[in-house]
Amino acid sequence: MGGLTGPLLVATRSEHKLQEIRGALSEAPIRCLGLNDLGLPELDEEADLEPFETFESNALSKARYFHHRSGVPTLADDSGLCVDALDGGPGVRTKRFAPDDWAARWGRDEANNRWLLERLAAVPEGRRSAHYRCAIAIVDDLEYATFVGQVDGTIAVEPRGTGGFGYDPLFVPDGEDATYAELPPEVKAATSHRSRALRLALPHVLSLADGTSGP
Ligand code: IMP
Repeated sequence: MGGLTGPLLVATRSEHKLQEIRGALSEAPIRCLGLNDLGLPELDEEADLEPFETFESNALSKARYFHHRSGVPTLADDSGLCVDALDGGPGVRTKRFAPDDWAARWGRDEANNRWLLERLAAVPEGRRSAHYRCAIAIVDDLEYATFVGQVDGTIAVEPRGTGGFGYDPLFVPDGEDATYAELPPEVKAATSHRSRALRLALPHVLSLADGTSGP
């Protein structure tokens, strides 16, 4: 039988993701550790962990890799933005959407946002619908599981706000006029793709914690 005898490793190099995941699991009787807490240095091979065409496969790939490296039950996130006017892109290529020379000039997040605005420059406000998607994978010695969450919204015509990270200054969730970077963090925590996936994952995390998961 599977059992969470120690901590849960939250395997992400993103401090923002780590904070959001820790917040979403704060009620669960588990100790969420980051990669730094376990002294796992970033290796070049980590750049090759997301070669697949679905968020679930990439999340599972990351969770399996870090479970193997740590020996600890591991949770990983793969997420991104799917824009209808871009036929669902950038999708699994969201992180490296902008060309590398743009990233070198402005930093990765700002370059991605500038690149997205350029791609949508001719798309009018009523046709800028988009979806943030997040897959959470959890891997322990005996089993694995994946959970997917999505939030629908639109892409603003210019960046607004300073909160959140990544594409948040451009993403206006349905039902709001403000971007996630303008809204209080509690709104994102309640409605985001990541919080939805983590809500679905919570029973699995709890079953690991009390040792009732597994065959
Ligand atoms: P990953 O590390 O391959 O999952 O890359 C995720 C990409 O999607 C990065 O470019 C992130 O900035 C972006 N992303 C994922 N979740 C969010 C979010 O909650 N807000 C803003 N950007 C996000």
